[in-house]
Amino acid sequence: MTADMKFKCLKCSYIYDPAIGCPALGVPPGTPFSELPEGFRCPQCGVDLTQFERLDKWKRRHGLAP
Ligand SMILES: [Zn+2]
Repeated sequence: MTADMKFKCLKCSYIYDPAIGCPALGVPPGTPFSELPEGFRCPQCGVDLTQFERLDKWKRRHGLAP
């Protein structure tokens, strides 16, 4: 897993981008998904980190990537 890997919330359309972080929740830009605080929740729908999937895997699962 690389530090700039994007993760998608499986419940909504939110995508966590490490380059952006999540300023609304106090996560500064440059924070890898793996270093998000344990209590991090999706800023859009409120699910926890277990409900996120790597964006590239998600895309493959949905036939959107080779
Ligand atoms: Zn969500």
